[in-house]
Amino acid sequence: MPKKIAVLAGDGIGPEIVAEAIKVLSFLNTNMNLGLVFENALIGGAAYDAFGTPLPQTTLNLCKNADAVLLGAVGGPKWEPLAHAVRPERGLLGIRSELNLFSNLRPAILYPQLVDASTLKPEVVSGLDIMIVRELTGGIYFGQPRGVHVAENGEKVGINTKIYSESEIRRIAHSAFKIAQKRHKKLCSVDKANVLEVTELWRSVMTEVGKEYPDVQLSHMYVDNAAMQLVRAPKQFDVIVTSNMFGDILSDIAAMLTGSIGMLPSASLDANAKGMYEPIHGSAPDIAGQGIANPLATILSVAMMLRYTFNQPEAAERIERAVNTALDSKVRTADIYSEGMIKVSTSGMGDAVLNAL
Ligand code: ATP
Ligand code: MG
Repeated sequence: MPKKIAVLAGDGIGPEIVAEAIKVLSFLNTNMNLGLVFENALIGGAAYDAFGTPLPQTTLNLCKNADAVLLGAVGGPKWEPLAHAVRPERGLLGIRSELNLFSNLRPAILYPQLVDASTLKPEVVSGLDIMIVRELTGGIYFGQPRGVHVAENGEKVGINTKIYSESEIRRIAHSAFKIAQKRHKKLCSVDKANVLEVTELWRSVMTEVGKEYPDVQLSHMYVDNAAMQLVRAPKQFDVIVTSNMFGDILSDIAAMLTGSIGMLPSASLDANAKGMYEPIHGSAPDIAGQGIANPLATILSVAMMLRYTFNQPEAAERIERAVNTALDSKVRTADIYSEGMIKVSTSGMGDAVLNAL
């Protein structure tokens, strides 16, 4: 049976970078006989302009019936005056919750060719390759009660609630252990179990699930220490698993260690490894339409799709190696350009990866 990919290019640079990723994936699809079929749909501002909603039912149905979703980016100044309920970003949140994409994977890889782009010293970051697994549909971002209200003494109070059920922790634990098995078999669970009861439960469920993965070495770390260790000695980590808010913060720290927003992919998976794949950067309206955006984050997102949803590690590695080869050949889009390199356009970078393949 063919495997279907819903392609949602979105807004801003979305269509430009997705075109390059599809170019690369189409080549591999034919070359390796992967049996993938693609179907395009509108999301975000583009969908609002056409249908008056950022997530049309046809788009949602397509995503539900597909095995994987490839997303460019959504949003831009054109749609900022809109009411929150129809903002482009709502399209994304809608897919995440409708598809139950609770496991967010954000690798932070520093390519040796770009080591000067990092905020840290080369000896601290060279060879950096870590994966942060963030719980995406629970925790304090969703817990009830929430809000701002007036207390009995007349003072305003703000409330948010960090809630995790055992089953929510268990499923993100399995997701993270399985990923660790595909990597270097080291998993660090980050919590604040000394202060927060909810993360005490987190820690005990992680430990319990860990017994089913004896080949993976599990460790635990408090989030404050983890933040410090990520900046002090990030190479000690292989896979980190953590809750929604801790993951939000730690993955941004990790991203900055690699220096270049145009290089970082992501995946958001459900319990069956069906997923949505997208670059971590946004729609970059400041450079949209100029053909200068870096397509590598999106191309690397396709590699993640092949690895995690389609179980094609060899195809994924071919893309990752081709990106390395392209960087070795000194081609650079403007965001990663430095002196002595060869400046190329979005499609020039896509072609360089294709040639390497
Ligand atoms: P969002 O709100 O969607 O997270 P943002 O507005 O915070 O996004 P981006 O859209 O990611 O941020 O853009 C931040 C900066 O990085 C901009 O200057 C943008 O041009 C640049 N940028 C983002 N992605 C790329 C890319 N693929 N190639 C080159 N530059 C990029
Ligand atoms: Mg933005």
